[in-house]
Amino acid sequence: QRLGHTRSIPFADPDSLTRVHAVASGKGGVGKSSVTANVAAALAARGRQVGVVDADIHGFSIPGLFGIQRGPTKVDEMILPAVVEVPGNARRDNGTPGCVKVISIGMFTDPATPVVWRGPLLDRAIEQFLADVHFGDLDHLLLDLPPGTGDVAISVAQKLPHSKVLVVSTPQQAATGIAERAGTLAAMTEQSVAGVVENMAAMVMPDGSSLELFGSGGGQQIAESLTERMGHPVPKLGSIPLDVALRQAGDAGAPVVWSEPDSPAAVALREIAEQID
Ligand code: ADP
Repeated sequence: QRLGHTRSIPFADPDSLTRVHAVASGKGGVGKSSVTANVAAALAARGRQVGVVDADIHGFSIPGLFGIQRGPTKVDEMILPAVVEVPGNARRDNGTPGCVKVISIGMFTDPATPVVWRGPLLDRAIEQFLADVHFGDLDHLLLDLPPGTGDVAISVAQKLPHSKVLVVSTPQQAATGIAERAGTLAAMTEQSVAGVVENMAAMVMPDGSSLELFGSGGGQQIAESLTERMGHPVPKLGSIPLDVALRQAGDAGAPVVWSEPDSPAAVALREIAEQID
């Protein structure tokens, strides 16, 4: 019993109805957080109750992507997540809209203060997010992992052995080593890989031509390589094009699937959300 703290993690219960996805990427800047936030937003637009745990402690960006300003509320020993409702003017894909409940270290620190925690403290933070935050009944829980396959990814896999990994990568071929590493980690921790999301794929230019800024084919390649490695089919769930609307929406703190539902990125993100729902 560590520090007398033994609160259990509801999502670790084998009978839990919450589907848990840990969103991983081999390196930073490929759009992992944007994908996490928007898939969560798209699921909420489908009427789901969605939790997002920002496990990217050092590089947190989830609060900004949802425009969350306030800190978390504390009631006794319970921490309440920030609740983001699907805005009234957003497209509702499945009747009554759900909501996204967010917890992030970014809600506890002022944005200018760097987070300097190391392994054991990171582990403790993840445990607190999972055990002490009152999410209520969730249909889905998404975890935005830090880039790479480090301490936090292992910690999450150990705490939530039933979670599935969602791999985000760009279409660049150099990304393939990532598949190997993600596969090794998932196999080690007996997690399965739900699929590969290719982000920053070809953008349609105003003249109708398409620009493959980051190449093509990487997502499919990773999916095939992981299928071989994992011994279960790992599909490519979709390709999200480079899209100014996605970047602008992220900067404005309004997920693109809500604010610009007809943009090419939003359409692709909705299709991905549908497949994991
Ligand atoms: P990561 O979490 O992998 O570090 P982010 O989600 O923070 O990546 O994305 C990095 C930057 O790239 C952000 O400014 C984001 O708005 C932008 N971005 C991500 N995906 C796309 C896309 N499909 N089109 C345009 N910009 C994107």
